[in-house]
Amino acid sequence: MVLPEYVMQCLQRLENAGFPCYAVGGCVRDSLLGLTPHDYDLCTAAIPEQIKAVFADLPLVLAGEKHGTVGVITEKNVVEITTFRTEGAYQDNRHPDWVEFVDRIEADLARRDFTVNAMAWSPVRGLADPFGGRQDLENKVLRAVGVPEDRFQEDSLRILRGVRFAVRYGLTPDAATQSAMFTLASLMENLARERVFDELCKLLPLVNAKDLLRFAPVITQVIPELACAVGFDQRNSHHAYDVYTHIALVTETVPPKLSLRWAALLHDVGKVASFSMGEDGQGHYYGHAELGEEMANAILRRLKAPNQLRDQVLLLIRHHMTRLQPDKKLLRRWLGKLGEETVGDLLHLQEADMGSKGTGMPEELKQFPLVRQLLEEIREENSCLHIRDLAVNGHDLMALGFSGPKIGECMNQLLELVQEEKLENTRQALLAEAQRSGGNRT
Ligand code: ATP
Ligand code: MG
Repeated sequence: MVLPEYVMQCLQRLENAGFPCYAVGGCVRDSLLGLTPHDYDLCTAAIPEQIKAVFADLPLVLAGEKHGTVGVITEKNVVEITTFRTEGAYQDNRHPDWVEFVDRIEADLARRDFTVNAMAWSPVRGLADPFGGRQDLENKVLRAVGVPEDRFQEDSLRILRGVRFAVRYGLTPDAATQSAMFTLASLMENLARERVFDELCKLLPLVNAKDLLRFAPVITQVIPELACAVGFDQRNSHHAYDVYTHIALVTETVPPKLSLRWAALLHDVGKVASFSMGEDGQGHYYGHAELGEEMANAILRRLKAPNQLRDQVLLLIRHHMTRLQPDKKLLRRWLGKLGEETVGDLLHLQEADMGSKGTGMPEELKQFPLVRQLLEEIREENSCLHIRDLAVNGHDLMALGFSGPKIGECMNQLLELVQEEKLENTRQALLAEAQRSGGNRT
């Protein structure tokens, strides 16, 4: 393992002062996989007082001191240095009840969640790997450190973390770990919602459909509204898959952008509840987009998702059944209403939705390249999408004698005519039209 210079210097300082020091956790795991770690954590036998003394000449972050963590601000990055410690259970599901500093790295590694995360490395002593994390990485196995039931009972967020690590590195939980993940999943109800939400946000951009299927018992525990979708036969000739499998495929297919992944995961959450059997013998799902939006709103509020993300997700779900047609006039209206980025996202969602039915390539899929081409053309034309893009403004209309709400009405009318290509967006043409329609201006 090669440590960056600034990390090596911190480690060396502690060693020189007589305190054993290791790189630990994610950075060791990622290095063994040949990946570049996104940060480096150190752990040491020094207690916070001693760490502070060793780095007395550097600015420090002391917010985590109670739990044994001192952040050292080097020129490059903050390096977190944590005293070897063990910890008690998490009664509040957030913080361990107690931490106790210890002097052996092995005791520190034993409190960590999975074997692949419970390795440390020192340039002096080499790899510390008392639980066989390296072997598990090679065999692609996710294994809890110690007795899985105990570890998930201490902190049930580890179940969701386990899903994330399994997905990120293509690991399969060993039988005992998986069994405990599934049987104890309901413990996650006690977790702080923000922790669950954050973990799901880390997971969603990484998942593919197979992951969502193999970990369905965990996913449907934190989003119980999806439970009835698992195995639900759509009884419709356009759909070969059950609702949950379809959802999983759509989620995999949309680009890994957070709002889009959330929208994909929840876009059909209202489907099962809106099922009806038609006289034609086909399952119908009238109003499922509206109901889905309502349910997604409740889910995202419960999980304390930020408002902006929630609004974006709800917008995409609301419109996921309103096909964007290859028609410039209509597209300009969509662009005016939702903006370019959201229209692009909606297109991704609709295309993934359409392409994930398992009944061959629907004819409608051919429309997507056309729509994209038209959007490109509209962009190049520098089109008039909003009232503010019109070549006249409210003052111009006031000068013509318009007042009050009539100004807005006239502007909207002008915008519509311009978008329908019945009127040119020039000052002269717009003023003439305003004047012409101005008979009822007050
Ligand atoms: P990432 O690349 O996502 O940062 P990471 O392994 O560094 O992965 P962190 O959440 O940053 O994960 O945690 C650092 C280390 O602390 C982990 O590798 C693990 O050893 C330990 N750890 C973190 N959270 C827990 C937990 N809830 N229970 C037990 N050990 C944990
Ligand atoms: Mg980390």
